[in-house]
Amino acid sequence: MSSSFLAINFAYVISAALFIFGLKMLSSPATARRGNLISSVGMLLAIVVTLFSQGIDFRWILLGMVIGSGIGLIAAYKVEMTSMPEMVALFNGFGGISSLLLAWSEYHQNPELSVFICIVASLSAFIGGVTFSGSMIAFGKLSEKIPSKAIVFSGQHLINAAILLTAVLSTVFFASNAESLYWVFILIVAIALVFGVTSVIPIGGADMPVVISLLNSYSGLAACAAGFVISNNILIVAGALVGASGIILTKIMCKAMNRSLANVLFSGFGSTVQANSDGPQGETRPASAEDVYYILEAADSVAFVPGYGLAVAQAQHVTRELGDLLEENGTEVMYAIHPVAGRMPGHMNVLLAEANVPYDQLIEMDDINPRMDSVDVCVVIGANDVVNPAALDDEGSSIYGMPIIETHRAKTVIVLKRSMNPGFAGIQNALFFAENARMYFGDAKASIQALVAEFKSGD
Ligand code: NDP
Repeated sequence: MSSSFLAINFAYVISAALFIFGLKMLSSPATARRGNLISSVGMLLAIVVTLFSQGIDFRWILLGMVIGSGIGLIAAYKVEMTSMPEMVALFNGFGGISSLLLAWSEYHQNPELSVFICIVASLSAFIGGVTFSGSMIAFGKLSEKIPSKAIVFSGQHLINAAILLTAVLSTVFFASNAESLYWVFILIVAIALVFGVTSVIPIGGADMPVVISLLNSYSGLAACAAGFVISNNILIVAGALVGASGIILTKIMCKAMNRSLANVLFSGFGSTVQANSDGPQGETRPASAEDVYYILEAADSVAFVPGYGLAVAQAQHVTRELGDLLEENGTEVMYAIHPVAGRMPGHMNVLLAEANVPYDQLIEMDDINPRMDSVDVCVVIGANDVVNPAALDDEGSSIYGMPIIETHRAKTVIVLKRSMNPGFAGIQNALFFAENARMYFGDAKASIQALVAEFKSGD
């Protein structure tokens, strides 16, 4: 074993350790930024070692890195927080297509592949292709460039099963004589691109978070397979880490959406129940800033329940200010976090961390629900689906079975939103008509600013 081989692999082990420490630190908002930096250093080390150790002429790669970094930098500054999920979908897609192209170029250069390499090259191309086209569809749905609702047609599962079977048979055929079966490889790529589309179009509405994290996992698996194709240990490890963390996140999201992974993978991605815009009707009880002020001023405990509207209104800082004023008033303040509130995993945590809300005031859904009966006031800030009681009691609802933050059980609920429009799942919410609910209409930031002003003038 040469000393350079040992040195390269030692550097890769350090990179892998940095990835793992970085990932671990991402699990808490307090350490997430440092974790991101540590993982990036690990990636930089892996890239530098790979480029210098393989005798690669990396002028083109450098050009690509400069252009890519430039685009990434502009996107990071320009893309709104609310558009992050679309951006994540694009990232996943680009990861997938890279693995596909890598496997393809390796095969193109040297078609005499061993059976094992044929199989991993097919896997890399197939999973990479599915990730790419699936992510493009997810991007289109999330950015509403294509209809975001589930597109279903009869025989869909059968078609998907047939496509999968064709991919497996093609891989076996390809591995039997890769050298003379270039067209089969192209067929695998084509099937993958079609399968990405057919497997993501039936997913819509509230199931999108699951598909995003699943595609994230796929992009890791494709990279892992690509690592085997080019015998690069760190790509195998990095791909496996992304694949595994993506699947863990998928599982967490499934739990939050009350879907089993098997249901997500094989049952039409929860599209069997359609969103319907008919729903509970009734009288709402609108409240003014002054009304809400009096309710909050008298409360012993207040739980803020943020949702997507908090992100749209960018109301996190002013919410924190209101929380501080309530605390000064002797009120217990909590922030109840639903795992799929907003448009990306951890969306609310990120926003509230940005506003320096103390971590010990962030309460997970499973911890706040058991004590909801004793909460004086829930202030729902731009959340809708994640507080919709139909998820608990309306079997016909598209979100039936999804765990929610049970604000309807609090003594009083104040809902901040601009209109009676539905949320992401497109369904009306009975909470808004409940006896204990008051609707405080307006942009969330302006509404909370008005409350802060009431508190300040009331001092
Ligand atoms: P919803 O999308 O259900 O509701 C958001 C509400 O915010 C709307 O009813 C809207 O009402 C209100 N709103 C929008 N802008 C403002 C504003 N400026 N001021 C005040 N209110 C505003 O959000 P939830 O967070 O409750 O639920 C998230 C949904 O998104 C779930 O269905 C989830 O499955 C899905 N999803 C989640 C992802 C994730 O990873 N977290 C990813 C993709 C989808 P109005 O227009 O009347 O103001």
